[in-house]
Amino acid sequence: MTPSLRATRLQDRLSSELQRLHSSGLYISPRVLEAPQRARTRILGREVVNLASNNYLGFADHPYLKERAAAYLHQWGVGAGAVRTIAGTLKIHEDFEAQLAEFKHTGSALVLQSGFTTNQGVLGALLQDGDLVISDELNHASIIDALRLSKATKRVFKHKDMTELRRLLEENPTDGLKLVVTDGVFSMDGDLAPLDQMVPLAREFGAVTYVDDAHGSGVLGEQGRGTVHHFGFQHAHDVIQVGTLSKAWGVIGGYAAGHPDLRDLLINKARPFLFSTGHPPAVVGALSAALELVQRDPSFMQRLWDNTRSFKAELTTLGFDLFGSQTPITPVIFGEAPAAFEASRLLLERGIFAVGLGFPTVPKGLARIRNIVTAEHTKGDLDAALSAYAAVGRELGVIGG
Ligand code: PMP
Repeated sequence: MTPSLRATRLQDRLSSELQRLHSSGLYISPRVLEAPQRARTRILGREVVNLASNNYLGFADHPYLKERAAAYLHQWGVGAGAVRTIAGTLKIHEDFEAQLAEFKHTGSALVLQSGFTTNQGVLGALLQDGDLVISDELNHASIIDALRLSKATKRVFKHKDMTELRRLLEENPTDGLKLVVTDGVFSMDGDLAPLDQMVPLAREFGAVTYVDDAHGSGVLGEQGRGTVHHFGFQHAHDVIQVGTLSKAWGVIGGYAAGHPDLRDLLINKARPFLFSTGHPPAVVGALSAALELVQRDPSFMQRLWDNTRSFKAELTTLGFDLFGSQTPITPVIFGEAPAAFEASRLLLERGIFAVGLGFPTVPKGLARIRNIVTAEHTKGDLDAALSAYAAVGRELGVIGG
């Protein structure tokens, strides 16, 4: 058979896709930071107050983490050298996992390459044909993708709607495993999963609750132990905690914390763990220092929450709609996407780096700027941001005055 001459040419595909992204307003061009990831950084040659990162505790460029990273690098080298299951498990990997399990009050923990691959790995390893998985509609893309790969029956419930969750549990009986999957803190709205209702409801139906605590770990619960700890379920064997080590912990990686059998199964079945190299020693060093620091020095979490409370209170007084956020994630609603993007541009002109998000990342009409307050912001940083917000909000007619 002669090959078709009508096959799509690579160049045509690239141009048509890029064109489509441009014309639908979805084309992304990342801002480049010209200085380290800190509360103040540099963009386009000027210093800016950074409200766009997930660097909740200010650990990304912290000297204590950097020193430990350097020490591990010198002692253990630059790379793990193999996937963890072949020859890439160094003693420091297992020591850190034990440290994390103790911190989380779970029997064990396993670290994967990222929060994204953790959801792929854990959901992929657990779910089988005949199982039921019910997922909050606002769960993270990595959960959505992981479930796409799964043969389990999938259902989606309206955001935090426990009545709908109950109905779906009632309507989908199975002898297989039942999993209710939720983010602990939702990354766009900054609200919490109602674990106090969800875990007992799941239990009524013999279902396990799976919590992705990417934005809660290091932020909520005693010493930053996370959303599950915040709601008092840290000892529950029917709650699986996963999360990331790339946000509050400042570095990179993901974890799953739970019963030692969960860890054992993941080592044997989680595909990113089996088929992709483990973390380099410097990463492990920085992470072990991060866990130590947050437990030794409560002022990081104290400052994070003091800053969060005062920034939110001032924005509310100015008249902005923060969409009920309960955490340092502080969305400021601007309505349609062009308004949010314009606000972001005007803020940057005033030295404030805060990113606008529109449909499909967030629903139509709820385009916003997502600000994340960190422990590292000073009062001066937040005051500068507030006065820029006041000016931009008035200029765009989002607030009065
Ligand atoms: N889960 C959630 C809820 C997240 O917000 C994120 C980060 N955007 C991830 C997973 C992915 O984490 P990582 O960046 O470590 O891959």
